[in-house]
Amino acid sequence: MSEPTAMSCEELLKALNDYVDDGTVAAVCREFAEHLAGCNPCQVVVDNIRKTIRLYKDGEPYPIPPRCAARINAAVRAKWAEAFPAPPS
Ligand SMILES: [Zn+2]
Repeated sequence: MSEPTAMSCEELLKALNDYVDDGTVAAVCREFAEHLAGCNPCQVVVDNIRKTIRLYKDGEPYPIPPRCAARINAAVRAKWAEAFPAPPS
C-alpha cells in the first residue's frame, strides 16, 4: 500500500501534451509531481520538454551545433522519405 501514484506513464504523457499546448498543467500538477517523483523515464521526458520550452521562450537565435544539425537533417530526410517514397527508377 505504499504506492501513492495514481497516474500511469501514459496518463502523464497525455497530460504533458496539454501542458505543452496551453499550460494547463496546474490542474494535474499534484498528480504529475507525485508520478514524476517515482518515475525516472518520465522525469527525463519532462526535463527534455522543459528545455525545449525554454529555448522557445528565450526567443533568441540559437546556433545549432553542427553535429545536431546533421542529425536533425538526417531525421527530417528520413521522415520525408517515409512520407514520400521515391518512385523506383
Ligand atoms: Zn512514468
